[in-house]
Amino acid sequence: MKILVTGGAGFIGSAVVRLAVARGHEVVNLDALTYAACLENVASVSESNLYSFEQADIRDRARLDEIFSVHRPDVVMHLAAESHVDRSIDGPGDFILTNINGTYNMLEAARAYWLGAGKPAGFRFHHISTDEVFGSLGTTGQFTEETSYDPRSPYSASKAASDHLVRAWHETYGLPVVLTNCSNNYGPFHFPEKLIPVVILNALAGKPLPIYGDGSNVRDWLYVEDHADALLLVVEKGKLGRSYNIGGENERSNLQLVRTLCGILDAKRPKAQGSYADQITYVTDRPGHDARYAIDPSRIRDELGWRPSVTVEQGLEKTVQWYLDNEAWWKPLQARAGVGVRLGVKA
Ligand code: NAD
Repeated sequence: MKILVTGGAGFIGSAVVRLAVARGHEVVNLDALTYAACLENVASVSESNLYSFEQADIRDRARLDEIFSVHRPDVVMHLAAESHVDRSIDGPGDFILTNINGTYNMLEAARAYWLGAGKPAGFRFHHISTDEVFGSLGTTGQFTEETSYDPRSPYSASKAASDHLVRAWHETYGLPVVLTNCSNNYGPFHFPEKLIPVVILNALAGKPLPIYGDGSNVRDWLYVEDHADALLLVVEKGKLGRSYNIGGENERSNLQLVRTLCGILDAKRPKAQGSYADQITYVTDRPGHDARYAIDPSRIRDELGWRPSVTVEQGLEKTVQWYLDNEAWWKPLQARAGVGVRLGVKA
């Protein structure tokens, strides 16, 4: 299968690229290389003859048409987006332009290509989205595919808008689409402005471990390689026009998560005195901070047989070890991320 992956130099996109190439798929990685991108993320496959890279901006429709006509993909996996909630609060403009207008451009370029190619069987436009479109849960319940949309941040509103566009292109124009909405990802190559890398790297540097509010906000965590596996399954086997919720059923409050990371670090790199948890510091809560997200993944499990391969404890252990082993990757990115100023609780 020849897959056009957008955002393949980012955190999740690069996991998809690495896994797809490992499974023998041909991959065209389309990425604008924004501050969040890092081509090192795909260095392990960049010499493969299955891999090619196109630096392009999804806001540039003409460039997208050119890439479709040159590469003629069998399927599209659309991940390119502005993804950091805190940045969307400080400056929503790029989120609207990339996540909404950019997705519109991708849909139109894909539709023109699909029609021009005589509607090839098997063509899919897979839109990758977030559980944040569903808003915030109370202490019980889970998001299902039928949950009403209720986005509350500029980021989630822009992703919700893009989800609606993708469904409309299916209903109105018959474009073969599938959608996925996933919970918080973590793992290797996570940009050092997001919660888990911030905690690991601040802990090692002896800096405060900032936690929004009282740390009670709950997120469902999924190891990024398990997400990539689910995405490849959906693009190949998902039913057209359908969306699939993807989650690890690993709900943790932010405080629990940070304490778990501190415990792993205490065991791997003990401090001279005390625990890394002593560095936990509570900071003013994010405006409109969603209380709880939880995903019901029964559709993807029952229809497609997907299950995560690691528990959150195993995944976090692997992640901490990866950051300990890969200072050469994260050190140069820290300056770009402005670590210590921002704290992400959602990728
Ligand atoms: P990321 O910020 O790490 O990567 C985004 C990539 O998109 C970067 O490589 C960036 O250069 C590229 N990009 C941004 N604007 C672009 C543009 N205008 N044109 C072309 N490329 C552009 O994001 P991520 O965490 O890997 O998320 C990928 C996708 O998955 C996003 O659509 C996000 O909404 C979704 N998602 C993320 C999570 C999560 O926990 N990280 C969870 C669910 C869904």
